[in-house]
Amino acid sequence: MSQAQLIVALAGNPNAGKTSLFNALTGARQHVGNYPGVTVDKKEGEARLDGQAVKIVDLPGTYSLTAYSLEELVARNYLIGDRPDVVVDVVDASNLERNLYLAVQLMELGVPLVIGLNMMDVAEQRGMKIDVAKLSQLMGLPVVPLVARSGQGVQELLRQAVLLGSQHPQWKPLNISYGADVDQGLSELAALLEGATPRQGLLSARWLALKCLEGDSEVMERVRENQALAGQILPVCQRLSEHMRATLDDEPESVIADYRYGFISAIARQALVLEREVRMDFSDKVDRVLTNRLIGPLFLLGVLYGVYQFVFWASKTPVEWFERLFGWLGGAVEATLPEGILRSLIVSGVIDGVGGVLGFVPLIMFMFFAIAIMEDSGYMARMAYLMDRLLRAFGLHGNSVISLIVGGGISGGCAVPAVMATRTLKDPQARLATILVVPFMNCGAKLPVYSLLISAFFAHRQADVMFALTIISWGVALLAARLLRSSLLKGSQAPFVMELPPYRTPTLKGLFIHTWERTWQYVKKAGTILLAVSLVVWALMSFPGLDAQQAARYERLAAQAQSDQERQEVANQRAAAELSATVAGRLGRVLTVVTDPLGFDWRTNVALVGGLAAKEVIVSTMGTAYSLGQGAKKSVDAEPLAKRLAASPGWTPLAAFALMIFVMIYSPCVATLAVIRRETGGWRWPLFAMLHHTLVAYLLALLVYQGGRLLGLG
Ligand code: GDP
Ligand code: MG
Repeated sequence: MSQAQLIVALAGNPNAGKTSLFNALTGARQHVGNYPGVTVDKKEGEARLDGQAVKIVDLPGTYSLTAYSLEELVARNYLIGDRPDVVVDVVDASNLERNLYLAVQLMELGVPLVIGLNMMDVAEQRGMKIDVAKLSQLMGLPVVPLVARSGQGVQELLRQAVLLGSQHPQWKPLNISYGADVDQGLSELAALLEGATPRQGLLSARWLALKCLEGDSEVMERVRENQALAGQILPVCQRLSEHMRATLDDEPESVIADYRYGFISAIARQALVLEREVRMDFSDKVDRVLTNRLIGPLFLLGVLYGVYQFVFWASKTPVEWFERLFGWLGGAVEATLPEGILRSLIVSGVIDGVGGVLGFVPLIMFMFFAIAIMEDSGYMARMAYLMDRLLRAFGLHGNSVISLIVGGGISGGCAVPAVMATRTLKDPQARLATILVVPFMNCGAKLPVYSLLISAFFAHRQADVMFALTIISWGVALLAARLLRSSLLKGSQAPFVMELPPYRTPTLKGLFIHTWERTWQYVKKAGTILLAVSLVVWALMSFPGLDAQQAARYERLAAQAQSDQERQEVANQRAAAELSATVAGRLGRVLTVVTDPLGFDWRTNVALVGGLAAKEVIVSTMGTAYSLGQGAKKSVDAEPLAKRLAASPGWTPLAAFALMIFVMIYSPCVATLAVIRRETGGWRWPLFAMLHHTLVAYLLALLVYQGGRLLGLG
């Protein structure tokens, strides 16, 4: 045996034809030993290719690599510990989907892999036509058709294996998306495992995390050996399994398995043509309709439209209750506290600021509820599958859809987890393009802005306008992606596969938990970050205020006023003068030089600057601005902000629409910029997003506003 002898390991399900292949490769040059410490046979032999000897190791037959059985453990430990140069997975083509389960796990582990597609004769007899080239393209690895019993294809397989093995490729783990809950748990665990473990060679942190979630006994044992690490990992695993049992009524490992089969079924549906009718399960039958090229997209649009109708209809009354509650609260504080800074702080800073955002909680809640139904039932994955074709035309990837939806593609997401979800994209250029266009989606923070303006100016067409905004945000995102992919982010496209997990009936409890979790995050944000920003904005809008001389002038005018009406007039003038004498007032006014052509007044400008911190701030700031600018005394049942806006001079539906477009597109919020920096490893792309997106927003809002005016819509 020469030193540089290549080692090829054969893996495969029992009865896939491993022994037949082993015999065809090695002939009489074989011997049987034992794997160290266990009573599992280890068969080794030698094959010859162009006179060169290649060592072949026959692994125990397994259906999986999860360390449930001794065979699985032995096979896995050999792969990890001995690192053969290349692994050949013997797949029974007549049972393609079931056999690919092991292949997917080998891909997740990351071993250099060649598929030996055995039993091609049986598959043919059963009326199956397999597009081998397509299969190879989708899986991103060599696939060689075989009839091992007669030796057909065996030499070609050996040639491919040697070709791959002699390049000594790096292990490249496949990252599948296992649904929002698992994916999030994985990144959490992977962050803990990164660096903390003796990495058992080159295992990826995500793979170890995956094994923890699957409850893999071997990996868990290793984790328990390190007490400090176990103390961090175990509670996270525990929490996640409890969460999944509560929401999906299932264990993490079976959810993970579902997504693996989903990945496989998406491959099979493209590479496998069944010439005879075969038995279809429920999911297959439903998918025939819902992923149909024609009916699928129409159904999808119908679902979206229905969701908006439902959300606005269901939340109308509760939103009004909230508005009344905060109006009453402001009035009550005004009635009890004396006029002065404290009262202004509580009424304008806290109640009108934060209350304006909290008022939308019912709307957000119903939106999250609708999204939870789509996610938990499995429809979301079909949505992604359908969008996939469309997205490819714009230089994005199938998994971009998941990110775009997480970011608010249906509306009501968040760009922060969406940017992190792009980790499942292997192609770096497409990933970057996805990261950059995700902020265009209508995240949960933009919803209050839209709702406010929609109810003020488009009260009778709420769902229509929301639907239009969704379409516009996708249009802008796709066009921007296309432009980026043909300029800054050029590169070819790798094929990819979308997971199609089976449909499930969502449980009511699961829907409630998913809805509550997301709603609570929103409320928490309103109570913390937004409160802080609101207070800062309030201060900027309150100081320095009028100087003594100006104040005295208004005192005099008020004293001279003859009637209540005159007194009110003076009070309003004074309030406006006070506001424009503040830091924010001055800044907002300076900015009107550029925002005048868009129809934004100086209050809007202040709100947009505040919106860089978080986009909900736009609403809270407008709440504060229109509250402060209102005049000395608010009536006890103050008008909701929407009514105040609708009644303000200078505001038109057209200006409101231009503003919504601007808010949709302009610079991502600070949290998103931070996560972009983390995921792209530098300031270059977050800076790009900030400046470029704001410029695009400006141009589009300008187009809308000025174009609309030319058409006589202003
Ligand atoms: P192992 O369990 O993976 O080692 O599978 P074996 O090599 O023992 O094969 C299982 C059965 O399938 C045996 O009866 C083989 O003769 C048969 N077999 C293996 N390869 C082929 C093939 O390509 N075509 C057909 N028709 N039968 C095969
Ligand atoms: Mg065998």
